[in-house]
Amino acid sequence: MNSLDAFAEQKLAALEAGALRRRLTTTGRGPDSAATRGGRAMVSFSCNDYLGLSQHPRVIAAAQAAVAAHGAGAGGSRLVTGNHAILGELETRLAAHKGKEAAMVFGSGYLANLGITPALAGSGDLVLLDDLSHACMWAGARLSGARVLTFRHNDMDDLRSVLAANRAGHGRALLLTERIFSMDGDRAPMDDILSIARDFDAWTLVDDAHGLGVIEDGPRAPLEMGTLSKSLGSYGGYLCASRAVIDLLTSRARSFIYTTGLPPASAAAALEALVILEEEPDRCARPLALARRFTARLGLPEAESAVVPVLVGEAQQALDLSAQLEAEGFLVVAIRPPTVPAGTARLRVAFSAAHSESQVDALSEAVARLTAG
Ligand code: PMP
Repeated sequence: MNSLDAFAEQKLAALEAGALRRRLTTTGRGPDSAATRGGRAMVSFSCNDYLGLSQHPRVIAAAQAAVAAHGAGAGGSRLVTGNHAILGELETRLAAHKGKEAAMVFGSGYLANLGITPALAGSGDLVLLDDLSHACMWAGARLSGARVLTFRHNDMDDLRSVLAANRAGHGRALLLTERIFSMDGDRAPMDDILSIARDFDAWTLVDDAHGLGVIEDGPRAPLEMGTLSKSLGSYGGYLCASRAVIDLLTSRARSFIYTTGLPPASAAAALEALVILEEEPDRCARPLALARRFTARLGLPEAESAVVPVLVGEAQQALDLSAQLEAEGFLVVAIRPPTVPAGTARLRVAFSAAHSESQVDALSEAVARLTAG
């Protein structure tokens, strides 16, 4: 065996030994949260399609019309020839939705975070993250070359004391958090974060990947990023901010500049989804209502968002519970370290406007039964 493959085999064996090796499973998706795996039909409680819009006839029709009119791909980076008019329309609508002057669409939410932080902070600056922040916020922070520190999850005393001890001696300071945490479904105390940021002359970037269209209350941060791939049912990422910031990032965010523009179909689907999101408040209220129905039935702490963790503990137990649910027709994936801290393996249950009350009740009954005793 050559040394490259030997290296890969050795690393894989170590991952296997730590129950950390990941494998892909093919999943088919359809309307009404339907999913298929290995020929088995299931109800998915693992999609981030919170409003069911990835399957909405109007969203599908918008994507199809854009492919037919403009082709499958953008054909170039946005600063060259890939800046399709639909992207501009989408940006105008996103900015208006967030009450900001301007917006920019990136290739994905991951790429957005990879581009935003390094464009705003660098050597001599301070980047401070909630310690449960998403992997792509960490990636952007590290890439920036700024000093990177963390504060304990949603702990405002800790945030204040880390800033008090470290703010001096740095040029700019940037706070990074998520409005809704992706694996715990809890909310960041945005009022407090923004006020602490003001006290310490720091800027705030909030990742709203799991909030848009589901949890819309609370103050806005100066930098509001997110994804087009969850409640908007499409693909891509965005940042909403002031015109000056967006103009600066257009010239400085490397993950925006050196990558191909979003396919017109993805932009058109996201734009139509955003129109529906704004037209249908009842649809937007459903994921949280269903999540609360589920937590009430199981006696869990009341859901704060469309995401509910059912904590299990060890990775294998979470995998076993997920497999048992799958056998009963519920797709609820297990989330394990290193995605979440050791000892907190869990089922991550994601609710969608496309679920029915009876589907939610059937899942709660199954979880209660399988975790009893
Ligand atoms: N931020 C958060 C909080 C996320 O959960 C995700 C997706 N899992 C992303 C960013 C990345 O977004 P995208 O899938 O568009 O790359």
